[in-house]
Amino acid sequence: MSRSKEAFKQAKEVIPGGVNSPARAFAAVDSDPLFIEKGTGALIYDIEGNEYIDYVGSWGPMILGYNHPQVIESLQQQLMKGTSFGAPTEVETELAKLVIGAVDSIDQVRMVNSGTEATMSALRLARGYTGKDKIIKLKGCYHGHGDSLLVEAGSGVTTLGISGSPGVPDEIAEETIVAPYNNLEAIEEIYNTYQGQIAAVILEPVTGNMGVIRPQVGYLEGLREITATNNSLLIFDEVMTGFRLAYGGAQELYEIEPDITTLGKIIGGGLPVGAYGGKKEIMEYVAPAGPVYQAGTLSGNPLAMAAGIETLKLLQQPGVYSMLEEKAAKLEKGFKDNIKQLEVAADVSRVGSMFSIFFTDKQVIDYKTAKESDTDAFTTYFKQMLAAGIYLPPSQFESNFVSLAHVEADLDATIEANYNALAKVKKK
Ligand code: PMP
Repeated sequence: MSRSKEAFKQAKEVIPGGVNSPARAFAAVDSDPLFIEKGTGALIYDIEGNEYIDYVGSWGPMILGYNHPQVIESLQQQLMKGTSFGAPTEVETELAKLVIGAVDSIDQVRMVNSGTEATMSALRLARGYTGKDKIIKLKGCYHGHGDSLLVEAGSGVTTLGISGSPGVPDEIAEETIVAPYNNLEAIEEIYNTYQGQIAAVILEPVTGNMGVIRPQVGYLEGLREITATNNSLLIFDEVMTGFRLAYGGAQELYEIEPDITTLGKIIGGGLPVGAYGGKKEIMEYVAPAGPVYQAGTLSGNPLAMAAGIETLKLLQQPGVYSMLEEKAAKLEKGFKDNIKQLEVAADVSRVGSMFSIFFTDKQVIDYKTAKESDTDAFTTYFKQMLAAGIYLPPSQFESNFVSLAHVEADLDATIEANYNALAKVKKK
């Protein structure tokens, strides 16, 4: 038995399913997970010492690669001062200023400990601010595991085929109305049916959690207009896309200002962080400035702030996002050439350094079309890539992440492995 298999067996005895987050269990690709020992740059190592070129990046945060020396140094300096005080620290203001400087729609920001907390809090704020209860979420978008948002979600929920979850009361799920992504008429219809009752629309402006799907031309503009006309809020969940697709996130790329933005992943530099922010008028509804309660013992944790500050500063360097674009575009071209040459029914869907390969010959525009992908083909592909030393997200319905640490040789090796893996898919 491999060491990872043995470790998984032991973990399963003491941790439900052996993992602390379901997607890690590799169930969707009919495999056992690798247990990871360490990472450096674009490489991770399992506990047996096998090396992999990694495109998971801890599911998004590791945009600089693992163990970036400046992030580590910054963490070490903070570590010597203490790990948590539950009192205000200047590093919280420093990270807040960096976030506000990056994202035009944010005047004030509150730090929390995860993306889930960020979206839960953003919904409470939207409801408190508008005095309305219903939320529109989009099919296949994942916003963490809060009750209101675990309805037709993507990510692990899609992968495992769980629609919603036991434990979410119907009365709560009923307040969430689900619409297909990239479909403005559906949103308009919901607004007509529930006039004056919708607090907010929440979405991933570019989706990652049903695979990477881009918003069609005019879609985000349409959402901005409909929400504003109806006095409800537009919430961009940029936990994945924030500081990833551009320094100012998807909203910079598509030039749309939401009312509330949720963040996480990259802003914690690999430590547990989430955040939500928006215009001052809305954010001042949050306690203690206002009546909407939200709190956290470890919120604004100084270690997480230190890692986040250093990461954002490094991302401010000129040329960073064009470098990411070049690396990811090279992969896209290499993969597309392979797909064409081998005549496999697949396509690469990419925005900046996020991409997916959908195993379908149809155009993927929403959850329904994403779900038409051939997941058996994906499983074959995934296993072949892993055997070739390429570590991918273990599901058809996730995004791959390119980091600044991926070098030409990594990309070339990945394109070659992709050719061989696609050849296996074709043979099946
Ligand atoms: N929103 C989005 C868009 C996400 O991708 C995720 C996590 N993948 C979350 C929210 C939840 O974040 P967390 O896992 O930190 O709770």
